[in-house]
Amino acid sequence: MGRKFFVGGNWKCNGTSEEVKKILTTLNEGKVPSQDVVEVVVSPPFVFLPLVKSSLRPDFHVAAQNCWVKKGGAFTGEVSAEMLVNLGIPWVILGHSERRLILNESNEFVGDKVAYALSQGLKVIACVGETLEQRESGSTVEVVSAQTKAIAERFSNWANVVLAYEPVWAIGTGKVASPAQAQEVHAELRKWLQANVSPDVAATTRIIYGGSVSGANSKELAGQPDVDGFLVGGASLKPEFIDIIKSAE
Ligand code: PGA
Repeated sequence: MGRKFFVGGNWKCNGTSEEVKKILTTLNEGKVPSQDVVEVVVSPPFVFLPLVKSSLRPDFHVAAQNCWVKKGGAFTGEVSAEMLVNLGIPWVILGHSERRLILNESNEFVGDKVAYALSQGLKVIACVGETLEQRESGSTVEVVSAQTKAIAERFSNWANVVLAYEPVWAIGTGKVASPAQAQEVHAELRKWLQANVSPDVAATTRIIYGGSVSGANSKELAGQPDVDGFLVGGASLKPEFIDIIKSAE
């Protein structure tokens, strides 16, 4: 169906300038499939964006980890979509579960952020995912559908959106979803897009998996028909990120 494999590296709130330079060396020297096969985007903390953008190999791209919900102004501590555009940052991660759960970002707030970022010309990695409690109570599909709906009802052009399914119980826990568990939810999300957005958007939108992805499990996950790539946290700070990128082949 021609969905190009996508690998995002979410560095979260990690790194010193020395450590960032080390990661950059690893990334820049890594042998990976060509841009025709895989799209790679790394997401450092805001303060390192200019350094990473200026020193990163040209076939890899950069994402911010968040941006403000509307035009900048009197919003202390926030970074606006306009500023990211001004710096030449093409991507932003929005709706990560750490922001939904720790910073209380609601489905609607995340949807507003996605729509505003897109309206400014940013590309968006939009994250959805259920908690362990929600999975155990059988409401996984309901939860991720509601999260996706709040995003989908605020804009119509999906060309610049990658949807990341990240079960909260798998993030940073070492408890990766099994390939079957990931495939099941990805297929449900694609079905949701087909029924509620359009068959074309369902067929073309990349749905990537995140949650304890490693060099050891990425190949098997990548083999699932509806897994179009990964959003990688912990392992994106290590040389094994290169192995994860290679699972695109
Ligand atoms: P993890 O994080 O790979 O460390 O589990 C994934 C994410 O939160 O994007």
